Amino acid sequence: QENLFAALRAAFPADLDAAAVETDAGLVYSWRDLDRATAMIANLLQSLQLPPASRIAVQVEKSVEAMMLYLGTLRAGHVFLPLNTAYQSAEIEYFIGNAEPAVVVCTSRNFGWVSKLAFKAGTHHVFTLDDDRTGSLLERAAHCGDRHEIAPAGADDLACIVYTSGTTGRSKGAMLTHGNMLSNAQVLKDYWGWQQGDVLIHALPIFHVHGLFVAIHGALLNGSRMIWFGKFDPKRVIERLPDATVFMGVPTLYTRMLAEARLNKVVCRNMRLFISGSAPLLPETFNAWKERTGHTILERYGMSETIMLTSNPYDAAQGERRAGTVGFPLPGVGVRVRDEAGQDVPAGEIGGIQVTGPNVFKGYWRMPEKTKEEFTHDGWFRTGDVGRIDRDGYVTIVGRSKDLIISGGYNVYPAEVEGYINELPGVAESALVGVPHPDFGEVGVAVVIPRPGMRLDGEEILAKLKSQLANFKIPKRCFVVDELPRNTMGKVQKNLLREQHKQLFA
Ligand code: ATP
Ligand code: MG
Repeated sequence: QENLFAALRAAFPADLDAAAVETDAGLVYSWRDLDRATAMIANLLQSLQLPPASRIAVQVEKSVEAMMLYLGTLRAGHVFLPLNTAYQSAEIEYFIGNAEPAVVVCTSRNFGWVSKLAFKAGTHHVFTLDDDRTGSLLERAAHCGDRHEIAPAGADDLACIVYTSGTTGRSKGAMLTHGNMLSNAQVLKDYWGWQQGDVLIHALPIFHVHGLFVAIHGALLNGSRMIWFGKFDPKRVIERLPDATVFMGVPTLYTRMLAEARLNKVVCRNMRLFISGSAPLLPETFNAWKERTGHTILERYGMSETIMLTSNPYDAAQGERRAGTVGFPLPGVGVRVRDEAGQDVPAGEIGGIQVTGPNVFKGYWRMPEKTKEEFTHDGWFRTGDVGRIDRDGYVTIVGRSKDLIISGGYNVYPAEVEGYINELPGVAESALVGVPHPDFGEVGVAVVIPRPGMRLDGEEILAKLKSQLANFKIPKRCFVVDELPRNTMGKVQKNLLREQHKQLFA
């Protein structure tokens, strides 16, 4: 039995009446509640007599019941397919049409239009689930038995399809197996030193790898309680820090907490570990956090296609947590950096990051060509990220291959230039994108955000950069704006910036 749920269930503590999840609203779910509710949902799904490997597509607000639906789907042996709550009709039509789910679960507010799209795509079952424990899914499940024998699954069987964030183009459905997810969860349990008594603050969305897998599997596999936030609220999270030991966040969650005066060493006294990922953590945030809380954020790197790949060390004996890097390849994960010609580059030099391991996905859903393109002849997955591995083994990401700017034949790595801009006085952050140019093919355009209350001048920024960097790296234009476009995971949407500025030199 290699069903991921079987491993998670086996890790439940002996005392099933202990609290497993405590919501910010004050509801408490015991381990027995998790067991019974997931059994009822699994029984409901099985009563529908769906064909094997049926997809259960879910677009609902975050709730403990939504997590139970995920676990119940695994338990029933079906394939879970989470969808970003921000998606509107055009996006949902694409995902439902592409995935052809047997079951769609949506909010009651969206039922009208989602059910129409679902029926059009041949889905027979549409349920609702709201974040106040209502909806037809739970009503139907309430009539099902609360005992359920976990459906058998092999390590190679599909467990989830996770659509990528769509940062670089149309989202692709990454097919993850029970084996992918369990192997990664077990490695992280060891690597991050999960221990008895750990309590996790869960404040991330649950339609991506970070909140759904890294956070939930981490807590469940350790039999640890979660303090559950439907929405991230920096003030409320800070109030609950004294009751917790582990926190996971994307970089914007850290900057939003840093903006709160109440964040200090005292509230963090019981904390063991702060983890960051999904987008680059600025060294400045890393340093500010250390100063305010006494804790060194552990940054890690992963993606929908592979779950987690690298991590800064937990154990000081293995090395320091280095700002600006994503640490070492996790045990069992291979990471190499290759040039265009497919040769390994020397330590410290930049190239395309390729990976292998039991965590690497089976391929993109219904995109065999794309899948083939992204794997090398010897079976390594091309991440699309560009980076380097230094002599000490630390991996650094310098950008994505799609964001790389080739200006007059020279490679410009956005992260390098952004790093210099961010160091200038008065700059909070920046983004460099390439836009078409008649002479150079492409040139960099910088978009800069000032620190609160500061005024910046684009021309002055460019003048300062000129004394620091080679001319081909200097952006041709620099715009000062209030905010960078970000998606729900806090990732900067460079495609939108490119689109906005593409006519500049036309
Ligand atoms: P798409 O593939 O659709 O363009 P996406 O790559 O943003 O979207 P995800 O799979 O959610 O979709 O994100 C994975 C990517 O996030 C990685 O390839 C990497 O570029 C970025 N990432 C994750 N963790 C980090 C990190 N710690 N530092 C920098 N980048 C990170
Ligand atoms: Mg990607």
